[in-house]
Amino acid sequence: MKPVISIVSPVYNEAEGLAEFTRQMIAVLESQPLSFELILVNDGSRDASFQIASTLTVDPRIRVVSFSRNFGHEAASTAGLRYARGDVTVLIDSDLQDPPPVILQMLDKWKEGFQIVYGQRSTRAEETLLKKITSWMFYRLMRRMAKMDIPKDTGDFRLMDRRVVNAFNALNERNRFVRGLVTWTGFKATAVRFDRAPRFAGKTKYNYAKLIRLAMDSITGFTTTPLKIATWLGIFVACGAMIWTIVIVCQFFLIPNYRQGGLTFLAAATLLLGGVQIFLMGLLGEYLARTYEEVQRRPIYIVDELVNFSDTIAIAGPNGGLIAEAPAPLTSAGGA
Ligand code: UDP
Ligand code: MG
Repeated sequence: MKPVISIVSPVYNEAEGLAEFTRQMIAVLESQPLSFELILVNDGSRDASFQIASTLTVDPRIRVVSFSRNFGHEAASTAGLRYARGDVTVLIDSDLQDPPPVILQMLDKWKEGFQIVYGQRSTRAEETLLKKITSWMFYRLMRRMAKMDIPKDTGDFRLMDRRVVNAFNALNERNRFVRGLVTWTGFKATAVRFDRAPRFAGKTKYNYAKLIRLAMDSITGFTTTPLKIATWLGIFVACGAMIWTIVIVCQFFLIPNYRQGGLTFLAAATLLLGGVQIFLMGLLGEYLARTYEEVQRRPIYIVDELVNFSDTIAIAGPNGGLIAEAPAPLTSAGGA
C-alpha cells in the first residue's frame, strides 16, 4: 500500500540514538490513522548506524538507503526525498533534536491546505552562544541578500506536500541548499514553532567549516548580489583615487615647499586596494567553482545499498547516473 506520510531522516554516525529515534517516531506516527514509511538515509556512517538501521527494517515500513560514502546532510535529504512515496513528506534529523510530536502539528497545518510547513525554533537548548549569534546573523543576511522569504530560525525540519517534493526532485543542481530550494518552489507555506531539544546522543556533525560552507553555498546559490558589489566598490575606489590624485597634484604645484608623507600614504593605499582585490577575486572564485561543479554533472550521491525497497525500481536519473526511483506498478506486493 502506498504510504500517506513519508518521513525522511539523514543518518550520519547516530548509532547511539538511532533506535530510540525510530521508536519515538513510530509511536508518534502510529497515533495517526494514516499509513507511513520511515526512510533512513545512511550517509556513509563510520559507526554501527547502518547495522542498527538494517535490523530495524524487520518492520517493512522502515526503509534504508545507504550511501557508498559520506556525501553530506543535504545530499542525504535529497536522496530521501527522491525515494519518498507519500502524499506528504517530512524531513527530520535523526538525532531527536527535532521532536517527532511536532509532526502532528505539521500534519494539521497540511490538512488546512498548507503545502510547506516549516519547523521554526523558538529556543535552542544547549547550543553555544557563538552558534546562536552566527545563525541569527545568517538568516537575516540571507533574507536581505537573496530577497527571498527564507523563514528565519528554521532548519531542514519541515513538511512538504507531494507537489513540493516533485518540484524539489526536478531540481538538479549540485550545490543543494535544501532550505533555500524548498522555499524557492514557492508553494503556500506556514510555520509551527517548537523548542529545539539537545541531542539525544552523540555530537553535532556540523563544525564551523561546514557551516561556513553551507552559508557560502546558500548565498552564492541564491543571489548574484555579491558579484555586483565588485562593480560598485570598483567605481567608488577608482573615483576616490582619481580625486585624491588631482588634490595631490594641485597641492604639489600650489603650495610652496610642499612635502607629502608619501610612503605611509602609499603603503596604506596599496594595502587597501590589495585587500579589496583579493576579496573580490575570492568572490569570483566562489561563483566560478559553482559553475565548474555544475558543469561536471556528477551525481549528488551514490547509493550502495537499499533495504526494503523491493517494491520500487531504481532507475537512472536525468543527471547521468543519478539514482532516482520509480514507483512500482500497483500489482507488485506492497510493503516488504
Ligand atoms: N548528517 C548527515 N550527514 C552529515 C552530517 C549530518 O546525514 O554529513 C545528519 C545527522 O545524522 C543528523 C542531521 O544530519 O540527523 C543533522 O546533523 P547534526 O545534528 O550534526 O547538525 P546540527 O543539528 O548540529 O545542526
Ligand atoms: Mg542535530
